[in-house]
Parts: sequence; structure tokens; C-alpha cells
Amino acid sequence: MRLLPSDGACRLQAATVAVAVAEDRARGLRPAVVVGNAGTVHTGAVDPLGKLADLATREKLWFHVDDAYGDFFAMTEVGRKKLTGIERADSLTVDPHKGLFLPYGTGCVLVREGADLRRPHAMANDYLPQMQEEADAQDFCEHSPELSRDFRGLRVWLSFKTFGADAFRDALTEKLELARRAEAAIRSIDGLELVAPTDLSLVTFRVARPGEEGDRLTKELLARVNARCRVYLSGTLLRGRFAMRICVLSFRTHADRLDEGLAQIRAELRPLLAEAAGRPSAAPAPERGPGR
Ligand SMILES: *Cc1c(COP(=O)(O)O)cnc(C)c1O
Repeated sequence: MRLLPSDGACRLQAATVAVAVAEDRARGLRPAVVVGNAGTVHTGAVDPLGKLADLATREKLWFHVDDAYGDFFAMTEVGRKKLTGIERADSLTVDPHKGLFLPYGTGCVLVREGADLRRPHAMANDYLPQMQEEADAQDFCEHSPELSRDFRGLRVWLSFKTFGADAFRDALTEKLELARRAEAAIRSIDGLELVAPTDLSLVTFRVARPGEEGDRLTKELLARVNARCRVYLSGTLLRGRFAMRICVLSFRTHADRLDEGLAQIRAELRPLLAEAAGRPSAAPAPERGPGR
């Protein structure tokens, strides 16, 4: 497995993969699969999927896309443009427990040709039902490592039947708009800097101070905002530097909660920067939420 460097916007460029494929071939290796990302864990970056698909076609490689986070944004107009090329994947990891707000454990892999899943997983045995031989019957134990398996698809099917596709499309469109609003707000706050573009619903930023001082202040800001128990933000390391993140992907997150979170970031940032500059901070006592 080769982990390849991404570009300045945290996206994997097809040219980088092409060089790696050529290098591997020159060493007598046989590259088989290229994996792209439709929304990375760290920044939500979407790789140039169309270009990666072109490369995979040209080099005769299987094209897999980790679509666990980005997936259902493809139902929206904006998301569909961002995820162009995904329709050319040979397989996709898709998480309805993220983009469709369903209970955890509703993850799946989609494969263009069902036979590609059946070949490695199907097994014949005298105690298994004979229905597997019927051409139009699907026995899902033939598509995964599990034999006695949960009926996960029911949650997905029933949710679409109950609420309709538009309910999900509208909710996801709202999340993308909220993230854009958050990105604009963070850009306008003195003392913060965005550290990666917002491709989908994830906004990554830090206190605009170099190196370790920035890391320390960003960690402290994250801790203080989360201590208020009104919004929950997460952090990550990006090229060795600490960043905090707003990820809008709960069906209960609407503009009021987002604005409240942004207000709390502003309120905590001011005294933090004053303290860092050695000025006494007249920090107001934080308004605490009721918690859980
Ligand atoms: C969440 C996520 C995963 C892991 O998926 P699980 O359903 O938690 O196993 C993998 N890749 C990306 C991009 C994710 O966002």
C-alpha cells in the first residue's frame, strides 16, 4: 500500500498517482487499485475524482472511492458538482449513518458489478438454502463476510419510504449552506485562519499564530468552547499542526445552533488572545449550557 502526499488543499492529484504507478511498474510491482477520497476525515477535502477515474481507466486499475462522509451530498445540486467523477468508481464506501443520519452500524460498500462481491464471498454448502441458485434471488450473505447478518438495508429503505428523498436532499443542502456560512464567519474573525478549503460541510481552522504557539492556543480555544457544553467541535493534526473543526452533519444542527457556536468561538477567542499578549483579560464568565 502506498500512501501518497496530497496537495496544498489536501487533495490527491492524479499526477502524483501516475508517478507512483510508473515507479511501481518499473520495480516490477503490479499496481491494482487506486483509492480516492470524496471527503477526507481531516478536512473534508474531495479529490479530483474525474481525473483519478481517467487515470484508473488508462492504467487499468480498480477505482475505489472512500465516500463514507461525502456520499449523500451527491443528492444535492452543489454536492453533485463537487463529487463529479464518483459515478465512475468501481466501488464506493458509503455510510448512511453519516449522510442519512441513520443509527451507527449502517455502513455499506457499493460495487458496480454485484458479481465482484459474490465471487470472493459466496460459498456453497449443503446446509445453505437452495434459493441462491435462482437467478433473480439475492442472498445478501453472498455479498459480505457475514452469514447470519443484520437487515441493515431496511433502515435505509424505510427512511426513504417514510420521509421521501426530498427530506434528505433538503437537510443535506442546509448542512452545506451552514458550512459555507461558518466558513465565511471564521474568515471574518480576527485572530483565526482557515487551514483548508471547505469542500463539503467541514470547516478547518486554527488560531492564526505560527507553530507551537498556534497549536497551544487552538487546543485551548477548542477546550474552552467545548466546556460550554453548547456545541461540540473536534480537533485534528494537519501536517503536524493542530486544527479545530466545525463539522455540520447532524439533522438537529440548524442556523441558530451554528450561530450560537460561532458566537461562543468569538467570545472565547478574545480573552484567550488577550492573555497570550500578556494583557489581563476581562473574560466574562462563560454561559454554560445545560449539558446533557
Ligand atoms: C467515517 C469515515 C470512515 C469510517 O467509517 P465508519 O463507518 O466509522 O467505519 C472512513 N472514511 C471516511 C472518509 C469517514 O468519514
